[in-house]
Amino acid sequence: MDSGDKTTTPTPRATPSHEAPAWVRCDGCETLIYGKRFARSFRVCPECGDHARLTARDRMDHLLDPGSARLLETEGPPHDPLDFTDTKPYTDRLAEARDATDLSEAVLCAHGTIQGQPVVAAVMDFRFLGGSLGCGVGTRITHAARTSLRTRVPLLLVTASGGARMQEGALSLMQMAKTAQALADLDEAGILVVSLITDPTYGGVAASYATLADVILAEPGARLGFAGPRVIEQTTRERLPAGFQTAEFLLGHGLVDDVVPRAALRGRLANLLALCRPGTEPGPGQSESGQPAPGQRESGSPEPPDAESVAERPPDGDALLRSLEDLPRREAWEAVRLARHPDRPTTTQYAEHLLEDFHELHGDRSAADCPALIGGPGRLDGHPVMLIGHDKGGPRLAERQRCHFGMATPAGYRKAARLMRMAAKLGLPVVALIDTPGANPGADAESGGQAVAIAENLRLMSRLPVPIIAAITGEGGSGGALALAVADRVLISVNGIYSVISPEGCAAILWKDAEAAPEAASALRLHARDLLRLGVVDGVVPEPAGGAHQDHTEAAALLGRALTTTLRGLVPWDPEELLRARHERFHRFGLEETSQ
Ligand SMILES: [Zn+2]
Repeated sequence: MDSGDKTTTPTPRATPSHEAPAWVRCDGCETLIYGKRFARSFRVCPECGDHARLTARDRMDHLLDPGSARLLETEGPPHDPLDFTDTKPYTDRLAEARDATDLSEAVLCAHGTIQGQPVVAAVMDFRFLGGSLGCGVGTRITHAARTSLRTRVPLLLVTASGGARMQEGALSLMQMAKTAQALADLDEAGILVVSLITDPTYGGVAASYATLADVILAEPGARLGFAGPRVIEQTTRERLPAGFQTAEFLLGHGLVDDVVPRAALRGRLANLLALCRPGTEPGPGQSESGQPAPGQRESGSPEPPDAESVAERPPDGDALLRSLEDLPRREAWEAVRLARHPDRPTTTQYAEHLLEDFHELHGDRSAADCPALIGGPGRLDGHPVMLIGHDKGGPRLAERQRCHFGMATPAGYRKAARLMRMAAKLGLPVVALIDTPGANPGADAESGGQAVAIAENLRLMSRLPVPIIAAITGEGGSGGALALAVADRVLISVNGIYSVISPEGCAAILWKDAEAAPEAASALRLHARDLLRLGVVDGVVPEPAGGAHQDHTEAAALLGRALTTTLRGLVPWDPEELLRARHERFHRFGLEETSQ
């Protein structure tokens, strides 16, 4: 396999600080760097930020807590299954690689901790035959995965590889299948797998364990691909764009979750490991505490109206408005205008206020990263959750344009689906914040399969075995909103709207007059009060006086309280009971008993 351009660049041998060369020349900017300083920064150039390669041992030293690493036992010396000779016998090459690296294979595996969080780490070393994937590497990666499975400790894969090992022929190819199988076992067991892509990661490693992780992080500038750039250029006779296959390029194409500088890696990894720690599977137990079961709530239930019934803020302790008497009476069009107010908090802003340790993940792992739909794990009131939500971009026009005004692309819905599957695997409740005018009215969205992407989310959510809370924080526009709202509890902000079509669209079609939008808004019954009466929403989230746009901090606090209260009512959960109730919640719509 091709191994990229940098693979022939001479680099100094391993440089643990005690044997650092006096001076090192940066590959990126050619600056001469004082050796000890270079080693102290774990080989990141202080001038240009170039991330030079690390040996597996230095990488372990960098990532794992001092003294925490316990090497996993390796399984025999590498062999020569084909009796392979090119210009030199394979056995000689192996012996030379072992001498040069002091490793038995191109990967080093250990148990350890990162900022106290236990992890099994498999770290590749590019110096050993270009980090190639042969039987020895495949066996060690599989062994590390099994160790993760047995101990229920997350697996971290740090990759650096030119691809499969030619000297082991088809047996080397089989290691891709073997390692993929080992990771599938971890998926079934609900154990987090994180891969860290370092430069370069190509061929068989890229097309197996490097990219089968729940979270794919990459170092700045690290290249990842199946075919190397020279092979592509020679085959197609076309020049590749600058930065092709780099981490930054891949982030923009939805293929990696994040690009993380080496200095920030330990913190980011520890954060992820803590959020997605396995072994916190929900036990069987009651899934409800004190909330009415879905489908049984009486609309306009006879709670006594209190003196503050028209206030938008509830008495302390009431996180949700559940009675019609508590909701303001207003024209539907007024609700539409408030729901669309450009200064309302975005999902990104809510995430900043509501979540601790929010770790935004990017991309649909297929084609793109949609900025109009964001998500990632974080901690809500101390409880790890997976947040997903539309993002309109805020008040500035440029940001709103970048976020397609909150209208997600198919890649956005696919990213949401990926994050929800990850949540299901790891047992994290899903919190979906909905604020979208609707589906994306673009040709690209259509040719990208928008309808399919939305439909698949509806099906996925109807069977997702973790609690789902959806909160419409602004506009809940048509199928684009529902694609995040097949939930156990659906909340809406008191100034939110939820509708099958925009009032303008409805007016144009049925009234043949877009000016009739306010009339259409009223007829569509799209504001909180009507939706609560219809049972489409289970509760209404209060907002600061005048609306969420008046005070983001207060709006976030009120939303946080509503979400936390709702979450407490769903945790712990029994997956079967959860799915039965969710099914019932949506099945009842349109049946006679719910007609009002
Ligand atoms: Zn440099």
